[in-house]
Amino acid sequence: MTILLPTQKLLPTSTAGSLPKPSWLAEPEKIWSPWALEGEQLLEAKQDALRLTLQEQRHAGIDIVSDGEQTRQHFVTTFIEHLDGVDFENRKTVKIRNRYEASVPSVVGAVSRQKPVFVEDAKFLRQQTDQPIKWALPGPMTMIDTLYDGHYKSREKLAWEFAKILNQEARELEAAGVDIIQFDEPAFNVFFDDVNNWGIATLERAIEGLKCETAVHICYGYGIKANTDWKKTLGSEWRQYEQAFPKLQQSNIDIVSLECQNSHVPMDLIELIRGKKVMIGAIDVATNNIETPEEVADTLRKALQFVDADKLYPSTNCGMAPLSRQVAQGKLKALSAGAAIVRQELTA
Ligand SMILES: [Zn+2]
Repeated sequence: MTILLPTQKLLPTSTAGSLPKPSWLAEPEKIWSPWALEGEQLLEAKQDALRLTLQEQRHAGIDIVSDGEQTRQHFVTTFIEHLDGVDFENRKTVKIRNRYEASVPSVVGAVSRQKPVFVEDAKFLRQQTDQPIKWALPGPMTMIDTLYDGHYKSREKLAWEFAKILNQEARELEAAGVDIIQFDEPAFNVFFDDVNNWGIATLERAIEGLKCETAVHICYGYGIKANTDWKKTLGSEWRQYEQAFPKLQQSNIDIVSLECQNSHVPMDLIELIRGKKVMIGAIDVATNNIETPEEVADTLRKALQFVDADKLYPSTNCGMAPLSRQVAQGKLKALSAGAAIVRQELTA
C-alpha cells in the first residue's frame, strides 16, 4: 500500500545514502571509519552529528531528509553486529560481490534480533524534523554477501531469515514515524539468477505489512578500489539493471533508486520499471567535481522520458561518506537547484 508523503511537492529531493561525518565523530572521507569516541560521549556525539547533518540537508533544500547514517559505521555490518548468531571474532575471508576479498564475520547459529537496532536513532531523527524522513537498511541479499555462513550453508535460507529480521525492524521504524524505508541491495547488480529466483522475493518478505513507502537502492558500489576497477570492465553500456528491473516492476516495492549521473547506464532501461517511483541519481559521488544545477537538470530531463514527473525523485548516485563535508554540501545544493529548474519547467 502506498500513502502520500507529507510533501506533495513535485520532484522531491533526497539522498541515496550516507553523508560525511564530522571529524570529531569519526575519521572523515573514509568508509568503515572507526569512531573517535566511546561510551556516553559517542552516543552524544552521534546525536549531535545527526542534528548537524539534518541542518545541512535543510540548508541545501533537501526535501526528504535522513540521518546521513551518522549513527552507523557501515551500511551492512552495523546492522549485523546487533544480531544473534553472528560471530564477529570468528572472521573468514570471502569474496564480496564476486569482486574483492574481505575479512567478514561468521554465521555460527540461528540468526535473530533480540532488540531493535536503529529504532531509537529513528525516533530521535523524527523528533528533530517535520519533513518526510527516509531510513536505510541493508537488503537480505547484500547482507548474506557480507558474511561467511557456516550454519545454514545456503545463501537462500539465510536470506529468508534476514528478511524476517528486517521486517521486524522495518515495522518498528514505521511505528517510529519513518516515511520511507530503503533497502540497499548493490548485490542485485551482480547475482542475477539469485535476484530473480529468490532475491526480490526475500525483499518483499522484508517489506511485508508495511504501510509506509518502501525503496530499494541498487548501485555499482563506491569507496573501494575493487568497485572502481570492476566498473572499468563494464564497457560503455552498463545494462545490469536490465536483469532485475522486470521482476522489480512486478513487485510491491514503491521506489527504485539507481545511479545515472556519469554512469554508463542507458536511461531507457528505466522504462522497464514504468509505474514505480524512481530515485534518479543525478549526483556523481565518485568525484569531487560539483555538478552545476544545469547538469543536474539535464539528467532529470533525460529521465523524464521514462519516468512520469509525479514519480521522479531527484537524488544522489549513492552515499557521500567518502567525500569532504564541503564537497557534499555543494553537491546537495546543486541537486536542489537542478531540481528547481526542472520543477519550474514542468509547472510553467
Ligand atoms: Zn549505493
